[in-house]
Amino acid sequence: MRGAVLHAPRDVRVEQRNDPAIIAPTDAVIRIAATCVCGSDLWDYRGINRVTEPTPMGHEYCGVVEEVGSEVTTITPGQFVIGSFFASDNSCPICRAGYQSSCVHREFVGAGGAQAQALRVPLADGTLVATPGIPDDDLIPSLLAASDVLGTGWFGAVAAEVGPGKTVAVVGDGAVGLLAVLAARQLGADRIIAMSRHESRQKLAQEFGATDIVTERGDEGVAKVRDLTDGLGAHSVVEAVGTQESMMQAIRSTRPGGHVGYVGVPHGVDLPGEELFYSHVHLHGGPAPVRRFLPEMVDAIWKREIDPGRVFDLTLPLDEAAEGYRAMDERRAVKALLLP
Ligand SMILES: [Zn+2]
Repeated sequence: MRGAVLHAPRDVRVEQRNDPAIIAPTDAVIRIAATCVCGSDLWDYRGINRVTEPTPMGHEYCGVVEEVGSEVTTITPGQFVIGSFFASDNSCPICRAGYQSSCVHREFVGAGGAQAQALRVPLADGTLVATPGIPDDDLIPSLLAASDVLGTGWFGAVAAEVGPGKTVAVVGDGAVGLLAVLAARQLGADRIIAMSRHESRQKLAQEFGATDIVTERGDEGVAKVRDLTDGLGAHSVVEAVGTQESMMQAIRSTRPGGHVGYVGVPHGVDLPGEELFYSHVHLHGGPAPVRRFLPEMVDAIWKREIDPGRVFDLTLPLDEAAEGYRAMDERRAVKALLLP
C-alpha cells in the first residue's frame, strides 16, 4: 500500500509500505476512505519534536473494515467505521468514567500511520464506532473530522462546562478552535465569542455559531472579552492552541467560578501558581477522550445537523500529502484532507 512517511523535518514522502495485518486477535484492519493532516503533525514536520527515523504519519481515519481478529465481536468486515487516535478497550474503569484516551490498555493508533491506504486498529470493539450504513461521499469529510478535531473541540467545550445560559469564548482559530465553536452551539451556549484575526476563519466561526468575534490577542483580547461580559469574563473558555500566551489568555478571560477546557497540546506552558490560586478558575483538559463523544457526533453528522467537514479547505490525493503539510505549515490551509 501507499503511505506517508516523514524522513526528516519538512521531508514527507508517500511511498510503498507493507500492508497492515492483524497482529492481536482484538485488531481490525480498515481500508481508509479519507485521512488528513493534523495541526499536531506539524510539530514533527517542523522538527520541534525530533524525528530520529523514518516515521509513518497520520492518526485521523475513517473507512471500511476489511478484516477482524478472532476475538472481535461487534465490528464486522464491510462496516464503515470511525475511531479515535487512541485505541481503548472502552470497558476499564477509566474508560467507563469517560476518559478513553487514558485507557489502561490504550495504544496510539497512529503508530501504524493513518495517512495511508489501510490501517491496523487495535482493540477494535472498544475503539471503532460503525455508521448506520455506508455514508454518502459528501458525509465523509465530517465523519473524518469526528476522528480527532471535532472530538477534541467537543471535549474542550464539555471540559469548559459549556451549556445553556453560558457565554463561551474560544481561544484559537485552527480546526479544533473552529469546531469547539460548533460544539458550543450544539451544547446550547447562549453566546459564543471566537477569538480570531483571520477573516476567512472568522467567517467559518460565524457559520458554525459564533455570535461575537474578538480580533485582539493577549491582554487586549482579555479586555475585549471582559467588555462583552459586563466586566466579568466568560463562563466557559476553550483553549485550543497550547502556548503560554493562549493559555494565560484563556485563564484571564474566564470569570471567577468559570471553567477553562484546554485541548491545545502545551508547548512551553508554565502556569503561575499564585495567579491561578486567586483566579477561582477551574482547569480541565488533556488529550480528548474522543471515543466518549463519537456516538453522539456520528449521529448528528448522519442526520446532517452539523457539518464539521467544512474545516477541510484543501483536498489532495494521498500521493500529494507533502503539499498538504506545506499548505498547513504556511497557514494557506486550515486543514488538508487526503484521499487514498
Ligand atoms: Zn479502558
